Amino acid sequence: MSAPTSPSTGGSPAVQAPSESVLRALPKVSLHDHLDGALRPQTIIELGGAAGLELPTTDADELGAWFLGQSTTGSLVDYLRSFDITTAVMRDAAGLERVAREYVLDVAADGVVHGEVRWAPEQSATAGLSLDGAVEAVLAGLEAGAAQVRAAGGSTTVTLLLCAMRQGDRSDEIAELALRHRDRGVVGFDIAGPEKGFPPSAHRAAFERLAAAHLPITVHAGEADDLPSIASALLDGRALRLGHGVRLALDITEVDGRPVLGPLATWVRDRGIALELSPTSNLHTGAFAHWGHRMTDHPFDLLHRSGMAVTVNTDNRLMSATTLTADLAALVEAFGYGLAELEEFQLNAARAAFLPAPARADLAETVRTGFAVARDSASGADG
Ligand SMILES: [Zn+2]
Repeated sequence: MSAPTSPSTGGSPAVQAPSESVLRALPKVSLHDHLDGALRPQTIIELGGAAGLELPTTDADELGAWFLGQSTTGSLVDYLRSFDITTAVMRDAAGLERVAREYVLDVAADGVVHGEVRWAPEQSATAGLSLDGAVEAVLAGLEAGAAQVRAAGGSTTVTLLLCAMRQGDRSDEIAELALRHRDRGVVGFDIAGPEKGFPPSAHRAAFERLAAAHLPITVHAGEADDLPSIASALLDGRALRLGHGVRLALDITEVDGRPVLGPLATWVRDRGIALELSPTSNLHTGAFAHWGHRMTDHPFDLLHRSGMAVTVNTDNRLMSATTLTADLAALVEAFGYGLAELEEFQLNAARAAFLPAPARADLAETVRTGFAVARDSASGADG
C-alpha cells in the first residue's frame, strides 16, 4: 500500500490512507442530506412506472448515470429537472414511506450511526395527501427502516428536518407543521431551493415562530450566494448551523500560510456554528468555483485550519452518485487526511446534531469508540 500524497496545505504528513472498507466501517454522523435527492434508481422505476411517469430509461444503472449526468452539465435547469422526477414519485403515503425506509437502510449500510434527513413537504402534498399526512408517512418510513436495521443487528437513528422552499410563500405554514410533529421525530427546520434572490429575511415570520418555540434551525447559505446570504441566515434565520457555508471562506485570507479571519468568519468560528459541507455536491454545483473546479480547490481544508466546526455530508446521494464513505474518500485523496482528522469531523457533527445534549454526548462516545477500534486494527495490520 502506498501513502497518499500529502499536500502542503493540510492533512497529517505520512499518514496511511484509510481504505474504502475502513472508511465505510467508521461510525459516521450525517447532518445534511435531502430525502428527495437520495432515492434508489430502482425505486424510481417501480414507483414511476406505477404512476405512469415518463423516465429517461427504465434500467436502474442507466438511470443512476443519467442523474449524475444531469448534475454535472453545469446547468441549473438540468439539475432541477432531476428533482422533478424524484418528487413526482413522492406524492403518496406509500411512496414516501418506502423512500424513507430505504433511505435508513442505505445510510446504515454506509456506516451512518446517526443522521438527519431533510425534505420539503410542500413538494409532496397533493389534493390526496395533506402536509401532516406526508410528514406522518415519512416518519413511519424512518421508523420502519430503523427497526429493520435493528432486526439485522445494526443500529442507526435518523431524524427529520422540514424544509420550506425559499421561492415559495409557505414557510410559516411549514414552521407550524414542524412544531406539530416535533415530538415524533421532526427535530429542526431549514429553507431550501434557490439561494440567490430569496434571502432568509423573506421568511422572518417562520424563523421567529420557531425561535419562540425553541426549535433548532439550519439554513442553506453560502452555497450559491456570498457573505451577505450567510449573515442573513445567522441574523434573520437564527441559524444554529449553516447548510454548506462554503463561501464563508470569502471572509478568510491567508497571510504567510496562516488563515486570517474577517468578522463574520470569526463569529461563526467562535460560536461553534457547524458548516454542513458536502464536498462532492459542492463540486458539482459550483459552490466553490471562486477557488477552482477540482476537489483540491475546495476551501474545506482552509475552513478546517481556520478552526471552523466542519462536517462532511452528502447533500444528494443520487444526484451526485455519492455516499458519506465516498465523500470521506474524496477528502482523504484531496487533502491527505488520516483517521484523526476524519474523527474530528464526525465529532463536530455529533456535537452539532439537533439532539438533546446527553444524546449528543452518547453519540460522540460512539464515534470515539468506533475510531479507536479502527485505529487499533490499523496498527495491528502494521505490526
Ligand atoms: Zn442541501
